Amino acid sequence: MMIFSDGQFPVTKDFFLAGANGDREVECFPDEFEVALNVVCLQIGSKYILIDTGFGETAGQESGHLLTHLNQSGIHRHMIDYVVLSHSHLDHTGGLVKNEKPAFPNAVHIMSKKEWLYSEQTPDSREFKVINKVLPLLILIEEDTEIVPGVWLKHTPGHTPGHLTVEVRTNHGVYLITNDVFNIPHSIFNTSLRVVLEEDPVQGIRTRNQLIQSACEKQVFIHSCHFPYPGLGMIENKNSRYQWKPIDVYHDSLDI
Ligand SMILES: [Zn+2]
Repeated sequence: MMIFSDGQFPVTKDFFLAGANGDREVECFPDEFEVALNVVCLQIGSKYILIDTGFGETAGQESGHLLTHLNQSGIHRHMIDYVVLSHSHLDHTGGLVKNEKPAFPNAVHIMSKKEWLYSEQTPDSREFKVINKVLPLLILIEEDTEIVPGVWLKHTPGHTPGHLTVEVRTNHGVYLITNDVFNIPHSIFNTSLRVVLEEDPVQGIRTRNQLIQSACEKQVFIHSCHFPYPGLGMIENKNSRYQWKPIDVYHDSLDI
């Protein structure tokens, strides 16, 4: 498992930390701040599996660095065998296209059918336009699916209807790549926190609570793409309060 930074991007507190309900820790956040964008690439045997694509050419200079960082690690975009799209938002799909063509032309692209139907409702959106450019490479899944041995795509709805979490079962333990289930580390404590455009906040809270409880009980490693780099850690229960315990690594990319 390798974790690459796509960069960062600015958000407002009103947008990124809705649902705070008087949470004092959230009140201390500035009105505007920067959010990290970390992308996981799995190497399983000879196969490379990229989970989301960052902003690509669709955002400012602070982001869109995924391809550069992949190259620096010797992974050319033509070597990617699978691209998993956790959901349709542009910070996860913008990098699908390079120079108007699929950026990962040899990869099977996979997303949830529910997510496809959701993004189809806004045909003029930039998200839908980039996904459309990889249509010949795209497979839609209707249920939880094992794409290669030990790598499962599991539906975790709320943020969007077809949001996917990737579960990786290894000899060293289970890793959950949770994408946009959580947006900041404090979300592990306050599961009401969500981005303002969360599609179904009630389902979002349900998904977050289920995932936290099960990950804590089973001592699962969690990756969360918008947490400070590398976004890898575990959930611990201290004094009946769930909290984030990061694994500290200080490199541009991380090998596990
Ligand atoms: Zn996101």
